[in-house]
Amino acid sequence: MEGEKVTTLIQARITIPDKRTAFSGTTTAPLFAWPWEHYGNYKYLFYVALLAKYLYPTTTTEEGTEGSSWCLHILLLFLLRGLLYQLWSSYDYMFFLNRTRRISEEGIDFKQIDAEWNWDNFLILHAIVAVLAYWSFPSLTNLPLWDGRGIFCCLALHIGVSEPVYYWLHRLLHSPNLFTDYHWLHHSSKVSHPFTAGHATFLEHLVLCIVIGVPILGTVFIGYGSISILYSYVLLFDMLRCLGHSNVEVIPHHLFENIPLLRYLVYTPTYHNIHHMDMRTNFCLFMPVYDILGKTINTRYWDLHKEISSRKKTSAPGFVFLGHVVDIMAALHTPFVFRSFNSIPFSKKFFLFPFWPPTFLVMLAMWAKSKTFLVSFYNLRGRLHQTWVVPRFGFQYFLPFAADGINKQIEEAILRADRLGVKVISLAALNKNESLNGGGTLFINKHPDLKVRVAHGNTLTAAVILNEIPRDVNEVFLTGSTSKLGRAIALYLARRRVRVLMLTQSTERFLKIQKEAPEELQKFLVQVTKYQAAKQCKTWIIGKWTTPREQSWAPSGTHFHQFVVPPVIPFRRDCTFGKLAAMRLPEDVEGLGSCEYTMERGVVHACHAGGVVHFLEGWKHHEVGAIDVDQIDVVWKAALRHGLKPMQNFIVDKSCNWGISQ
Ligand SMILES: [Zn+2]
Ligand SMILES: [Zn+2]
Repeated sequence: MEGEKVTTLIQARITIPDKRTAFSGTTTAPLFAWPWEHYGNYKYLFYVALLAKYLYPTTTTEEGTEGSSWCLHILLLFLLRGLLYQLWSSYDYMFFLNRTRRISEEGIDFKQIDAEWNWDNFLILHAIVAVLAYWSFPSLTNLPLWDGRGIFCCLALHIGVSEPVYYWLHRLLHSPNLFTDYHWLHHSSKVSHPFTAGHATFLEHLVLCIVIGVPILGTVFIGYGSISILYSYVLLFDMLRCLGHSNVEVIPHHLFENIPLLRYLVYTPTYHNIHHMDMRTNFCLFMPVYDILGKTINTRYWDLHKEISSRKKTSAPGFVFLGHVVDIMAALHTPFVFRSFNSIPFSKKFFLFPFWPPTFLVMLAMWAKSKTFLVSFYNLRGRLHQTWVVPRFGFQYFLPFAADGINKQIEEAILRADRLGVKVISLAALNKNESLNGGGTLFINKHPDLKVRVAHGNTLTAAVILNEIPRDVNEVFLTGSTSKLGRAIALYLARRRVRVLMLTQSTERFLKIQKEAPEELQKFLVQVTKYQAAKQCKTWIIGKWTTPREQSWAPSGTHFHQFVVPPVIPFRRDCTFGKLAAMRLPEDVEGLGSCEYTMERGVVHACHAGGVVHFLEGWKHHEVGAIDVDQIDVVWKAALRHGLKPMQNFIVDKSCNWGISQ
């Protein structure tokens, strides 16, 4: 019942006009844009200048270099403030800790992440204002470390000036003109997040400078100022801003029941989120008492707070993609580490290197203690799709003694999905390794009564690879030819009367596959044992790592299709190399803000897409073990029908579509 209240409130959210489209040409309200908007990362040069000023002071005082210590304080405060926002952001994305207490169940999409990319502009602005303040009021440079009287003074100025000033200015910002000129930007973020606090116009942050500046400067001018007050007030201010914009309710309701007065003094994430959903209420800075005095408090706040903070359950996903960590560097490519880095395809970046040692320790801790956990999600056609991660790294899958532990993790995840009512769980990458668990067969045999369907999704992987191959090709060279995908690709191509040169040293395995083909087609499958055999063949399908020497046998102009993980290094300049099989999710996907490893935005590995198709089709069979060659066309057609798209980097040629009968 109470859940309905939240839904009703969310539905009642006032539609925010997209200023860029609805009011095109009018985004130039005075002081709307940031002066350094077009300078990219050069904006941080200001801090370099501050550091230089600290290290090489131009003016010396009696205390030597002490004269520039205020530069150090501004720098330190900037770093601490940035860190505080980052930690809140990380916590907000730790769905495995807080999924039941999320206020909005929607995900933050790429559009919002991009819009909030420069959320830290206000930190630069505040630092500039602080420099100006130091220049204007030299008394600021000689503050004592501590003065206890300052606490009361600062608090009084905050309650007596900052709170009411902010309250009335905020209400003013919601007047029609100011809202459509400025405040709409802050409200354009669909799901509140600590970075949303920084997502506002230049003018609004200038005003916020006054709100935050009055208690600090006031305390100094009265004579009770100190460095401790300066740090404490600014960091507490940030803390409360983050709290209000967090999408996770962190204040337990019983705290308000035990200390009733507190509910009028401090707001909560639910409180400010209500303002973002219903903009006619809850305007205060941090203290609800001002909304009570102004008669603008949302009457449903207490009930909502109680419901969200004590919620024990959340929506169950319909589909789960069960991944694992690739390596230490890739482990940093998760939304709860750096969400902006996670919103672009993974590649090794210089700034990651300092994080390698602590992440290595985290890996060990995960190995010892962690269970499979939820890392990201999106919604598709009203159903929740989640990605869970087995707490194991790629290299661990190659340690024979680690296999049992990994299978246990996968099994527990499948059973948990079964209990939750998940319809399809798709095994990613090495989680479906043949040698580990027979492509998922192990779990199906052990638990024959599973309601959740287990899928390896590789039928679609095969379909994607096969549909990249131009129709006029009559001979291909295939490595990894007796693997799960290799076998299916070979048998499918033989049906299309394509000659397949299957590289394998095992005649026994080759013959086993050849016998699966109808007798009249068996001649299309040819065993080869050396790369030299393919020196006339311009279509290579690589399912195994190839060395530069092996690649050198390909004739000029060869296209390398591949299903080898990690992909081969393209040594040949005169050849072209395809990427790993992948598909773009349907356009109506919602709340997607995370890139799947090296995939582009909105693109997932073909096996992930295969699981999605399995779920959307409502198929009742498990997709485990060997690939059913008869299903390849069926899965491909279903994927296209549901709006999944093959990637454009492949050969765009309608005639190359084997799957759909022409
Ligand atoms: Zn507002
Ligand atoms: Zn807000």
